[in-house]
Amino acid sequence: MTVQKDTSGLYRLIDRLYSDRRLEPDGYRALLVCDDHKVAGRLHEAAREETLKRFGTGIYIRGLIEFSSICRNDCLYCGIRRSNRKAERYCLSKEDILECCRQGYRLGFRTFVLQGGELPDTSDMLIEDICSAITSEFPDCALTLSLGERRDETYVRLFKAGATRYLLRHETRNPVHYSLLHPKEMSLEHRLHCLDVLKRTGYQTGTGIMVGSPFQTYDNIVEDILYIGDLKPEMIGLGPFIPHRDTPFRNYRTGLVDSLPADIVGLTARLISIFRLMLPDALIPATTALATIAPGDKNGTTPGGRETGIMAGANVVMPNLSPSRVRQGYSLYDGKASSGAEAAEGIGELEKRLEKIGRHIEISRGDFLHRE
Ligand code: SAM
Repeated sequence: MTVQKDTSGLYRLIDRLYSDRRLEPDGYRALLVCDDHKVAGRLHEAAREETLKRFGTGIYIRGLIEFSSICRNDCLYCGIRRSNRKAERYCLSKEDILECCRQGYRLGFRTFVLQGGELPDTSDMLIEDICSAITSEFPDCALTLSLGERRDETYVRLFKAGATRYLLRHETRNPVHYSLLHPKEMSLEHRLHCLDVLKRTGYQTGTGIMVGSPFQTYDNIVEDILYIGDLKPEMIGLGPFIPHRDTPFRNYRTGLVDSLPADIVGLTARLISIFRLMLPDALIPATTALATIAPGDKNGTTPGGRETGIMAGANVVMPNLSPSRVRQGYSLYDGKASSGAEAAEGIGELEKRLEKIGRHIEISRGDFLHRE
């Protein structure tokens, strides 16, 4: 006997989210836990419509340069955490980074994202000098930083040096959950403070979470949605948590504690759609972690996480532009993809895979714009 589920209330929630841009916490929760593929299909369709209306079929590309694997932090989930003695440590020189940008520019990239472990404060001058060098050599390009928590005045100096976007995931808005993912010396309060400073400084600011991180519950994700709804970041990064063999979370399965085993790709996709409907102008990447956990096939015949994310409302991809000799060293989680369509030199493969889902690479800086 088949059990008939009444899903009409869920369709009404999707319509409300589409028209009002927000729901009550219970409404978000209901959409997150719902594994009915027809309801999810409608949610993605609404988000896709909104994306196409605002951005057309273009997908922005950002060249990701993994600046350094040296990190002063000890986040329990991360492969480059300070206490991982097995991690390979490197730091690219200014000339290495400029060379990456030159290669990226030739390939058509007009945004460079400098990401890395959290370097000591004594590196601030070096970072500032690198930002100035990039922005003076590539004045028509945007520079995004993702270098963790820094001093308030450093954020201001880096902005003056030409960086106009900053990605800093809050990771979780729940203080208890935060304390389970991070060492004692790190605090959610400080992370949120950094996000406020970034916004006030004038950066296009990105935040986000890992989906399915250890100890996470649906209620935690609802708290994240409410926080992001209030902060209104210009960029929202969502990727599944993937364990790393040399971290304390090596044995955690990706999933929520109140719904194991979970379809984490499906949950991430529903979350992307929710954010697209809440903050329709946001820049939302289909992340490397999503492409890693669901690679699909090379020809795009079986869609992977990247395509799933885009079909759910993502409009950005960030291929890896780091020199190939250091890519293995930036090991945040096991199996992290950094070749094929996840690599800058694989842009042809990316283009083909996007074509299969009716999209194309958009060659422009892709700044955040209010389009309403
Ligand atoms: N240090 C900077 C920071 O903290 O924002 C940037 C680098 S940090 C490694 C970039 C992001 O990687 C983090 O915000 C986190 O969400 C993600 N990350 C780290 N470990 C991960 C894991 N095991 N699975 C999935 N994502 C992970």
